[in-house]
Amino acid sequence: MGYSLIIPHPFPSYAVKLKKYYRLFLYSNFHNTVYLIHYFITLHIMKKSFFIVLCTLFITSISAQVGLDYYLPDGVSYDESIPTPESVIGHQVGEWHITHDKLLLYMNEIARVSDRVVIEPYGHTHEGRTLVHLVVTSPENHRNLETIRSEHLKLCDPDQSQGISIDNMPVFLNLGYGVHGNEASATNSSLVTAYYLAAAQGPEIEELLEHTVILIDPCINPDGLVRHSTWANMHKSKNLVTDPNNRGFNEGWPGGRTNHYWFDLNRDWLLLTQPESQARIRWYHEWKPNIVTDHHEMGSGSTFFFQPGIATRVNPLIPQQNIVLTKKIGAYFARGLDDIGSQYYSEERFDDFYFGKGSAYPDVNSGVGFLFEQAGIRGHARETENGLITFPFTIRNQFNVSLSTLEAGLALRKELLEHQKEFYLSAPVEAAKDPVKGYLFGDPYDRAKTFHFVELLQQHHIKVYRLKSDVNASPVRFKKDHAYIVPLNQPQYRMIRTLFEKVTKYKDNTFYDVSAWTMPLYFNMPYQEVRTAKELPGLIGEELTTNRFYEGSVLGGTSSFGYLFRWDEYYTPRTLYSILSKGLRAKVATQEFTYKDNQFSEKFTFGTIFIPVEGQNLKSEEMYSFLQSLAIRDGVDFYAASTGWTPEGIDLGSGDFASLEKPDILMVIGDGVSSRDVGEIWHQFDQRYHIPITMVDSRQFSRLNLFDYTTLILTGGLSGEVNERELEGLKSWLSAGNTLVAYKSANEWLSRNKLVNLTFKKTESFDTSGEVRYVDRSKNYSIQRIPGGFFETKIDLTHPVAYGYHWNRLPVFKTGTMFAEKSTNPYANPVVYTEDPLLSGYISSENLEKVKGAPFIVTHSSGRGSIISILDNTNFRAVCYGTSKIFANAVFFGSMIR
Ligand SMILES: [Zn+2]
Repeated sequence: MGYSLIIPHPFPSYAVKLKKYYRLFLYSNFHNTVYLIHYFITLHIMKKSFFIVLCTLFITSISAQVGLDYYLPDGVSYDESIPTPESVIGHQVGEWHITHDKLLLYMNEIARVSDRVVIEPYGHTHEGRTLVHLVVTSPENHRNLETIRSEHLKLCDPDQSQGISIDNMPVFLNLGYGVHGNEASATNSSLVTAYYLAAAQGPEIEELLEHTVILIDPCINPDGLVRHSTWANMHKSKNLVTDPNNRGFNEGWPGGRTNHYWFDLNRDWLLLTQPESQARIRWYHEWKPNIVTDHHEMGSGSTFFFQPGIATRVNPLIPQQNIVLTKKIGAYFARGLDDIGSQYYSEERFDDFYFGKGSAYPDVNSGVGFLFEQAGIRGHARETENGLITFPFTIRNQFNVSLSTLEAGLALRKELLEHQKEFYLSAPVEAAKDPVKGYLFGDPYDRAKTFHFVELLQQHHIKVYRLKSDVNASPVRFKKDHAYIVPLNQPQYRMIRTLFEKVTKYKDNTFYDVSAWTMPLYFNMPYQEVRTAKELPGLIGEELTTNRFYEGSVLGGTSSFGYLFRWDEYYTPRTLYSILSKGLRAKVATQEFTYKDNQFSEKFTFGTIFIPVEGQNLKSEEMYSFLQSLAIRDGVDFYAASTGWTPEGIDLGSGDFASLEKPDILMVIGDGVSSRDVGEIWHQFDQRYHIPITMVDSRQFSRLNLFDYTTLILTGGLSGEVNERELEGLKSWLSAGNTLVAYKSANEWLSRNKLVNLTFKKTESFDTSGEVRYVDRSKNYSIQRIPGGFFETKIDLTHPVAYGYHWNRLPVFKTGTMFAEKSTNPYANPVVYTEDPLLSGYISSENLEKVKGAPFIVTHSSGRGSIISILDNTNFRAVCYGTSKIFANAVFFGSMIR
């Protein structure tokens, strides 16, 4: 079709080597205009220990298009009945960025035709795309797959694994591609992997398939892949433009890395807040793979990274044998990449602390996880400091390490299976040595939150038991109806440690991600260690095999007076929004009271909501059925009140019940705003609260009529030059009684523009009085970061931002090094860090001093309106069940704060 192979004619002898070792096929179309392309290809052929450098070539326009044999290993024949990717998707691998529909088309076709491949849908994304994995093994193994799988799972149960022989057991290998949608070489390489495994012939592949079960997840993040593939393909020129300034290389906001709500799925393996991760973890525990690969891309100027990473940056819960196997398997990647002359590095950068990443989670679940990072180009061919890199080149590296993974898995099959067996056999031994024997937990005020906490543990295959009898503890009494116990002596011992324990001391103070992930702190969940084994039998009740969401009800039936509900439960913001959207009037109690009639005697605290019956647009009966449906949906109990008179505290008609208004929310997103911060807020309101938010691009802000909204959320500054007129507009909108919720760095912008009076503590860097060395600068920078940890705050339970809270200590998750001074108004600092704030995580001693006594929330009045400054995370990664209510309170009750 008018293409011919360009061989660099001035170097005929190298041309042969080029074909043998590098096999870079650059096809070109002679009918196009001739361009001068300057490119270098450096070949590092380790076996011969010399470099071949090919310089300046005249070629016609680059298309970087290659055939399938560019990727495939030499000397293998292929079954012609297996369709090539091109024959199904209509282009060569790497010619265009694969779209998700075409990817599924090919994977389904391969599964249809090949008796080695079965395709299994395992879930759906937010945007409704199907998540699939391929199960690849010999036809013989496929016939016995259920038996093979259940035998394999017995290795993960110390009660069943003793007598099992691993001699003939296949090893389970999981190739995981494309958790970051814009790291395209990963998913695109899965096409070649699937083709190779289905079509390759000969004794080598037969042996591989006989002894392995290969689980290919071709695309972990389809929604992100779709955004990026569209971007990369729409910017592709027929004559490839390799200039890094070309728009295609610079993805528009928010980019394709994340999922629909802009969540990084490669942080979600532990938290499981997203449907992609929930679905994946389900099948993960159904298969318990022995090796898991996680294919990524990094900066275009780098080469290729594979684990092991830095030896000191390993979570202490990872067994030594895992580290030994990681190193052994790493040697296979080195050999594979040497064979094709690709540069790489290992044992530098990255870490294995946080088990929320795809390459780390397997390490605490009896497998061995591997992170791969290919220099990414975000297009089809790009000039980089390592010369011209083509998309096919990046795909080929990912395919190459995929094959090395399979080779290593086959060679180390018994060691990997033995490790898996030993991992679980050692769990009771480790648990016996542990000073902690179990954890009690439960929040008597928030059953929905407790439900989600149990749900999370069970998704990680942790066994949860009912409590046999009540236990007195602080700040709550654990009652058997509301509390649970997790004994440590169970196969998932290490996962329990991970999820519950607090850590404040580390071997190395540099973190690639967060330094703490103590789940009870994220959830503000009362919990307590059980330290003597003797106590356990008296505490452990029946195992919780199902976890049911509590359905509330309207207690006392229909009322002709009004209904009350407490602001305690996690989903109350959803309940209140539904009530206000229905056009019903509701009020919030700013004082405590006791309610008593012949049906109830109940104490109600700050934040209780009252919905009067009189003068509403629903009749009493209709209101009852409506509230009953909300009670069931949200797990909230309503109390039907028969009188407005209360024996203690305010009466129901009191002026200390403040009227509430349905919030119409505007949030500024786009360039200059962290997609993570706004994505978390969007997700919280949309998914959890069913509250719509209008998201406006920052460039459009000045054209809006702000008075169409009651609530503005800013998570950063408004982009570009903000003129006086716009600031005045904002002020007059506030003066009219509206609410501005200023999140994290938005506060610095507001302070610069004098909309709030906030003073920030200086964040001067580390102590420079001693010897300072240039080589230490990045380490010294890391030491002063706060990678993410838990800090204790003191919270004023009478303040509207604290409605729904019951204990005056609240753990918050802090990531930034922004520290403010308290407001001079003593009533404007409702949430303040304590004097001994560190609960779990890393912080330098200098920064710790700055956190002490600093405010987490500062409120400001502006005319009749309010600005609520939230200075750090309340919604981090959708797992902050403990602090997200502060944000909701700012939205619902912000306007009444003076
Ligand atoms: Zn990545």
